[in-house]
This record gives sequence, structure tokens and C-alpha cells, in this order.
Amino acid sequence: MITSGAKAEVINRINSICGFTISEEKLPPSIRMAITSLANTLKELELTRQVIIIEEKEYMKKGRTLFRNKKDLEELEKNLITYKEKLNILINKFNERLKELSQEIINDLTKKDYGNKLDEKNYAMESKLIIEPIHCKKCGAQLKLSTTGITKCEYCGTIYKISEYLDLLSDIIENDKKHKIL
Ligand SMILES: [Zn+2]
Repeated sequence: MITSGAKAEVINRINSICGFTISEEKLPPSIRMAITSLANTLKELELTRQVIIIEEKEYMKKGRTLFRNKKDLEELEKNLITYKEKLNILINKFNERLKELSQEIINDLTKKDYGNKLDEKNYAMESKLIIEPIHCKKCGAQLKLSTTGITKCEYCGTIYKISEYLDLLSDIIENDKKHKIL
């Protein structure tokens, strides 16, 4: 899924939560940024899901042919269950963010209706729904998920397995929540 596709998907979901069609260009910059950031997160989630599907296919193939490696097979099976559980948790968190953002949009429109528009600068600080991209823990470079299931930092070469990548993804979605409470 390319970013523009993910963005259209996020806007579609917001429309169905709000119950009306939002026009992006009329929204404040902070909300537009939050939409873009959620679209990037959706793209990450979709990519991760695809990587897990590829791993699963591999597992099915091995399951049919390599019976002698039963231990490896069991290990892979266990990992797949863990990945899917983690991914489901992340998808639920993502959906929560989407609901929060939809509420923020409704609030914004209500404020406008009452002619009580907040100062744009204050409003930008109020919005805490922007999710940072995933960065390498070691060097801080932005990470790009690979479809092979192993992600290598292009800058310092640190390797991240699917489970570690899911943890990083979880961290950025969680951090966002922590900011919101503050
Ligand atoms: Zn790095």
C-alpha cells in the first residue's frame, strides 16, 4: 500500500466514524499532520501484516517438506502466533487513535460553528495524535521494513527481526498515548 492509498483509507475510516465526509483542506494543519502520520502508521501495519503472511507461507511449505526439523518448525509456529497477537494489539491501538482523531475533528468543527476558533498555534500544541516514524534504536536513522522479515538499518546495519520491529511499532504508538496523558 502506497502512502496516498493509506491516506485515502484513513480518511474513509474517519468519514465513517464521524458520519459525514470531511474535507481535508478545511482542517487545521495539526489535524492534517495527524492524518498523514496515521496513514504512515497504517502503511507500517499493513506491511507488517504482509511480512507475517509471507512467514506463514514459508512455515506451511516447510511443514509439508521438512519433517526432520520438527523443533525449528515448532519454534516458527510459536513465533507466528506471537506476531499475530502483537499485530492485533497494534491494530486495536491504531483504531483507538483513529477514533480520537475523529473526535478531535468533530470538536474542531463544533468550535468553528460557534465562531470560537482557537488560535492556530495553541491548537497545534493541543493535538498529540502525531505518531513519529520508526527510528533505529542504535543510530536514530529512519527504518524501512523489509518484506523478508528482517529489517536492516540502512545507516548502521543493525538488524531487527519481526518481533523487534513490532515492539518498535508498539513503542511509537504507546509513546503517543503517554504524551496525551501529560
Ligand atoms: Zn541504525
